[in-house]
Amino acid sequence: MARYTGADCKRCRREKVKLYLKGSKCDSPKCPMESRPFPPGQHGRNRSKESEYSLQKREKQKAARIYGVLERQFRNYYEEASRRTGKTGENLLEMLERRLDNVVYRAGFAKSRDMARQVVRHGHILVNGKKLNIPSYQVSPTDIIEVRPESRELTPFVVARAESGEKPIPAWLDVAPHTMRILVTATPLRSQIDTAVQEQLIVELYSK
Ligand code: SF4
Repeated sequence: MARYTGADCKRCRREKVKLYLKGSKCDSPKCPMESRPFPPGQHGRNRSKESEYSLQKREKQKAARIYGVLERQFRNYYEEASRRTGKTGENLLEMLERRLDNVVYRAGFAKSRDMARQVVRHGHILVNGKKLNIPSYQVSPTDIIEVRPESRELTPFVVARAESGEKPIPAWLDVAPHTMRILVTATPLRSQIDTAVQEQLIVELYSK
């Protein structure tokens, strides 16, 4: 499956915000956003004021990069979000948040969404007792997501267990770190999604 393969830290600098793509490096002083919080390239510091269109486009790219979704798939999420009742922007974020790879990341079972995507693809995750290797699977309330018992002693999961409690867990997930089990208790509300994205700008971009 296609995915973005550019340099992660350049993506953050381009968006001028931490996208948290590199696990523990993101919270350390080694994060390039600490020392160079401006776009990469010769003219990165001196970019002129951006147009409304470019702000909207940047916001869309920021959201897509945070969740690791390519353009076409992002557009599909938007179209589905606009067909649903309620606010399109909130529907869009809710769908991105309910991706299986995001849930594994949010629960603290992977250091980054990229890593979460990998552990899902490699078959380490069960949903309702069955192996499911589709990172885009949309979790629903009452779903139980677990690390496969045979995989629990693999290094990434041992490390994740040791570091559990370091990151806040969203209220719509009930996580048992020691059994590596997540119960989805609700669909996420906008107020429970701490992704630094102005979804209204994305809606404005796509509704042109
Ligand atoms: Fe972004 Fe993390 Fe790289 Fe910092 S370390 S620039 S937050 S990917």
